[in-house]
Amino acid sequence: MPKSRISRRRVLKTAGAAAVGGGAALLGGGPLAAQGGAPAVLTNAQGGRRFRGFVKFNTAQLPDVVDLTLRPITGRQMVIRTEAAQTCYTSVDQVLIPGTPTNQATIVGHGGVGIVEAIGPQVLSARVGDRVIVNLHASCGRCFNCLNMRSDKCRGGQTDNVATCNMPDGTPVFSRTGGMAELMIVNEEYATPLFHPNVSSAEISMLTCVAGCGLGMTMTNVPVEVASDVVIFGAGPVGLAAIQGAKIKGASRIIVVEPIAYRRQLAMKLGATDVVDPNQFRDRRPIPNAPANGDRFRDALVDHLREMTKPVTDRIWAGSGRIGPHHVIEAVGGDKIRPKEVQGPDPTGVTVLNQCWELCSAIGTIATCSVGHPQTAFVSLPASQWADGAKHHWPGTGGGTNDRRDSPRHVRLMETGQINMKALVGKTYPLSQTRQAYQDCADRTVISTVVTPTIT
Ligand SMILES: [Zn+2]
Ligand SMILES: [Zn+2]
Repeated sequence: MPKSRISRRRVLKTAGAAAVGGGAALLGGGPLAAQGGAPAVLTNAQGGRRFRGFVKFNTAQLPDVVDLTLRPITGRQMVIRTEAAQTCYTSVDQVLIPGTPTNQATIVGHGGVGIVEAIGPQVLSARVGDRVIVNLHASCGRCFNCLNMRSDKCRGGQTDNVATCNMPDGTPVFSRTGGMAELMIVNEEYATPLFHPNVSSAEISMLTCVAGCGLGMTMTNVPVEVASDVVIFGAGPVGLAAIQGAKIKGASRIIVVEPIAYRRQLAMKLGATDVVDPNQFRDRRPIPNAPANGDRFRDALVDHLREMTKPVTDRIWAGSGRIGPHHVIEAVGGDKIRPKEVQGPDPTGVTVLNQCWELCSAIGTIATCSVGHPQTAFVSLPASQWADGAKHHWPGTGGGTNDRRDSPRHVRLMETGQINMKALVGKTYPLSQTRQAYQDCADRTVISTVVTPTIT
């Protein structure tokens, strides 16, 4: 990192602090400052500041690291110096598969962790110098979904889709919550201040998307209760977080289904009581003339998991009668490209969705979160079971997490050692190696990969 860049940051920090007390100053001089030949920083609004970002330019080109020039911030916007950003598998196609549709030049990423360097005049919750987590999902607290306990489906963040910087040729670039850049520019509803200096930004970055979802799936809407049996499909970073949430909630049996051996081992280390390799139980075939309210498939994996979660007695008047686990968590999804590590029985991820339904006990709960299934894929359920059953389903890639409420809780649990995110940070990369970080994520050769744009 050149010295001039570091000293410029110090100047910025001072300038940003001055902006806190005087919003009007933010509005002067920005647009002109962004024009060519201007010094790096002209106003407290940061207009003209230069930084590097990993940008998906358009549909035809794969993303690359480019120089960017910040547009002046305003309103609820914040400028955050990115310390760590994890690579979400959801972005693998954007980064590695040519021709993935892109409407506008966009910084890649699903959030990150960093230090606030400037705030717009309307920002209330963060101050310059705060460390914040920027989550993939906003939680505005005001939209219909936030007001009805589904902040992970917040609509508030969609109201300000504006370009925040320019490429050298003037092309506008949207930063969204992209963490794969030296700076994140987001509205404050995406950013939550954290006050736990003993937990590293790389560890916290796991919470921006994947692990925040996993913890949410077992700690929010799904009523994992003490002594319950939980089956978790998938021991990637989402599933490994879900395991830890289930353990904290008091589950006595946490069975993890995962095809990759090193991930099964990690699952055991983080709280799983049992692990199962699904490739050992691949047999699945339709049952001819199956009854409407019974199984439609003879499935070796479902049978095995039912056997493992069988109640200690079959005497119904002694409290028995449950078939299958209390709760089933799905954290698998479809493979966007073939990984180097072993694949599960169905690379589309659709069979697992059906197995979740079949396996879940009659009044149990299913949480699903995965992406990457083929566009044309459908999950089909027996109509009589769907209409007359009593299974509960909590879907959503956010896992039911309210990030502004839950991120500080999760970091507190990391600080006390009740949640281990260090084990999920497989490898860190400088910004220049962001593409490789996504490649390793897609190959599944490490548990997860984290880019550290400004940490050298
Ligand atoms: Zn994500
Ligand atoms: Zn909202």
